[in-house]
Amino acid sequence: MDLILFGPPGAGKGTQAKRLVAAHDIPQISTGDLMRAERKSGSELGQRFDEFMSQGKLVPDAMVIELMEKRLTREDAKRGAIFDGFPRTVAQAEALDALLAKLGRQIDKVVVIDVAREEIVERITGRRLCEETGREYHIRYNPPPPDVKVTQRGDDTEETAHKRYDTFEQNTLPVLPHYEAKGLVAKVDGVGALDEVTTRIEAVLPR
Ligand code: ADP
Ligand code: ADP
Repeated sequence: MDLILFGPPGAGKGTQAKRLVAAHDIPQISTGDLMRAERKSGSELGQRFDEFMSQGKLVPDAMVIELMEKRLTREDAKRGAIFDGFPRTVAQAEALDALLAKLGRQIDKVVVIDVAREEIVERITGRRLCEETGREYHIRYNPPPPDVKVTQRGDDTEETAHKRYDTFEQNTLPVLPHYEAKGLVAKVDGVGALDEVTTRIEAVLPR
């Protein structure tokens, strides 16, 4: 199964993707995570990603598509993937379709995780990450246990949160009609307990 988790930054895509990975035995592919890993390695490519990420701007399509092509052809993604934070532009969606077609696959479902802007800003500014396990926490909604060391992403400020939400509305929402035309889009309410949201997602997945 090839599944897109779609929604504004902070909607819970990463959190839910990690829960679906175990149940469906396919990897999560997060372009944001791939870019942060590249940045951490100190490579020149990582520095170029950082110029855009630190300002809440989208990384140019050609760079993102190249990154995705490399990741998607790895062995663990042979039977499908959960795309998280990708595609974020119509050009990326078209490139993904072409990449999957080459592998004899296609997107099976696009799940929109629906969360309003005010809630998004609160989620982003409260987000914390355990770098060791990659797990996401929230200082209020999902607090890390006292022995877990967490950090905050540099781009998770209130100002960037608004900017990223604007970018989502302008550049990423136009991706939906592309998949709506194929009858692949299902919307779920992203507000509620983590388990509830997972159940809502599972309910719209193809069996
Ligand atoms: P969030 O879901 O909180 O926005 P991500 O980890 O998905 O966070 O993305 C963080 C940043 O990485 C984005 O603001 C953007 O700069 C960059 N980025 C991630 N994925 C993409 C993508 N598919 N296209 C362009 N830029 C991306
Ligand atoms: P995304 O990958 O879409 O950017 P995340 O999964 O990183 O979003 O979630 C953003 C923040 O919101 C994290 O701090 C996470 O713990 C928190 N969060 C995720 N889902 C929920 C939820 N259903 N209710 C409250 N907080 C949530």
